Amino acid sequence: MKQENERRNFLRKCWQMTFVAPLAGLWLAGCGSSKKSVATDKKLKATPCEDLTGVPAVDVEKRKSLGYTNLSPIPDKECRNCQLFIPPKEGSECGGCLLFAGPVSPEGYCTYWAPQV
Ligand code: SF4
Repeated sequence: MKQENERRNFLRKCWQMTFVAPLAGLWLAGCGSSKKSVATDKKLKATPCEDLTGVPAVDVEKRKSLGYTNLSPIPDKECRNCQLFIPPKEGSECGGCLLFAGPVSPEGYCTYWAPQV
């Protein structure tokens, strides 16, 4: 009887190692890759307005000091509906801001956000 139980336990462990463990690994890998692709999508979406090439250092510092970010953390407060936003020119994804030079994402935000009047 004891030998039979040991044999069953051995076979159960073999089955688990053969089928359950790899499937669990695939499931976990799938979860991780979907999170990664969402993050990558956000990063790609935000990239066009992140190029600060040629922007004066003083404006880069001002943008940082105002807490500018390319993706607003507050859904109702984005650069596109800010009084200080300069809309993108035709063919461009990025606009500007009256407070500093450089590209500004319509989905961006900073602590100086002001409602349009
Ligand atoms: S003040 Fe801030 S929120 Fe308003 S357009 Fe400029 S960067 Fe965007």
